[in-house]
Amino acid sequence: MIEKFIRDVPDFPKPGIVFKDITPLLQSEEGLRHTIERLAEVVDPDSYDLVCGIESRGFIFGTALARHVDKGFIPIRKPGKLPWKTAAESYELEYGTDTIEIHTDACEGRRVLMVDDLLATGGTMQAGLKLVRRVGGEPVACAFVLELGFLPGREKLGAIPVHALLRVE
Ligand code: 5GP
Repeated sequence: MIEKFIRDVPDFPKPGIVFKDITPLLQSEEGLRHTIERLAEVVDPDSYDLVCGIESRGFIFGTALARHVDKGFIPIRKPGKLPWKTAAESYELEYGTDTIEIHTDACEGRRVLMVDDLLATGGTMQAGLKLVRRVGGEPVACAFVLELGFLPGREKLGAIPVHALLRVE
């Protein structure tokens, strides 16, 4: 079901990369509903208090899921975007590094479900997990719409349960 709404875009954002475009999935009422319902099934909503989404596609799925299961949502953002006090974490990219931030009062003492659209190398989510823990939250699981199965992203995330609705090879 989800597979038919994922579009492969060759050479985006640079030559040699085949980008997994999730916009056809968002555009389809059937695809979007199915995706959010599945995300609500793969991790028991009773096991978390908040949904955390990573900028920017994690916001779309994370917020829709949070609303669906009647929870709050917390954003992890690119640097300089969050207005209150923040904690920051940098992680390695193929070339260079990237940084993400969270509000220091986002989730202290709360159980958090981590959501993003896609798991590739795992660097983004690994940094997200560190941030949530640093500000006193307890990540209980990670949920992705898509996982690139040919990359060892999962291994980077440690012992936390990792769920992907679709694994592509
Ligand atoms: P990672 O840190 O696991 O290598 O990369 C995952 C992050 O990069 C996610 O936040 C995801 O949104 C983005 N990303 C990397 N490659 C793709 C892709 O092919 N399609 C989409 N939709 N996102 C990607």
